[in-house]
Amino acid sequence: MSLLTLENVTLRFGGLTAVDALSFAVEPGEVFAIVGPNGAGKSTVFNLISRFYDPVSGAIHLESEDLLAHKASDVANLGIARTFQNIELFEHATVLQNLLVGRHRHRRSTMLSELLFLPSVRRAEIENREKVEEIIDFLDLQPYRDKMIAGLPYGVRKVVEVARALATDPRLLLLDEPASGLSVEETSDMRWWIEDIRRQMGITVLMVEHDMGLVSGVSDRVLAMADGAKLALGTPSEVQSHPAVIEAYLGR
Ligand code: ADP
Ligand code: MG
Repeated sequence: MSLLTLENVTLRFGGLTAVDALSFAVEPGEVFAIVGPNGAGKSTVFNLISRFYDPVSGAIHLESEDLLAHKASDVANLGIARTFQNIELFEHATVLQNLLVGRHRHRRSTMLSELLFLPSVRRAEIENREKVEEIIDFLDLQPYRDKMIAGLPYGVRKVVEVARALATDPRLLLLDEPASGLSVEETSDMRWWIEDIRRQMGITVLMVEHDMGLVSGVSDRVLAMADGAKLALGTPSEVQSHPAVIEAYLGR
């Protein structure tokens, strides 16, 4: 069974059809990339999966779970985490604190048990701490662990955003332009992080990315979109050589 399935999903903003009868499925364990010119509807697809928007028609499933029956606040609990095209972190908190916020959903404690500071609460807190430290080690963020986000270089913040998403223990990780604004060297590092996240953590990755070098290097399959619709779907080389894709890029 596919991990994520979109079937005939349409979303309009007033008169603009941002996503147009779009269908695709992401298989467990794969890195799946969405490419396309600016305004193609890529981020909107993420916002639909995140349940920020209700489609006017179509279906979205996580395995057999009907995502449209859930609120945006349930999405993390179902095992979907995301990063944003524009980094969204708590600027005046440390890397560690940002990641602990990401763990919040794992705190099963009630207000009362928290007030009483029951052993179960303490255990959950130790568990969260351990998981977060593990992710910090995994992504080589130790040197920045106790540093305020606001003071960190852009490239490090991009990695922290990925770390924050991983802290929720997702099955499906959505990365919106993980390499945007990164140097060639940082982009190459990001490629290896994505590869490790898939291989070592076993997390399925769905990403939107403009850097075709990164896309071809790390993706199993690519969906090319334009004007909210599917242009081509296949391996990176199939999609890059597809006439409709070449035309969409040259035409703009
Ligand atoms: P991409 O991420 O592929 O660059 P987006 O998904 O951000 O594209 O946008 C797709 C289209 O929908 C664009 O024409 C954009 O202007 C429009 N759009 C995106 N979000 C909104 C919104 N909240 N309200 C109105 N129009 C929007
Ligand atoms: Mg976008």
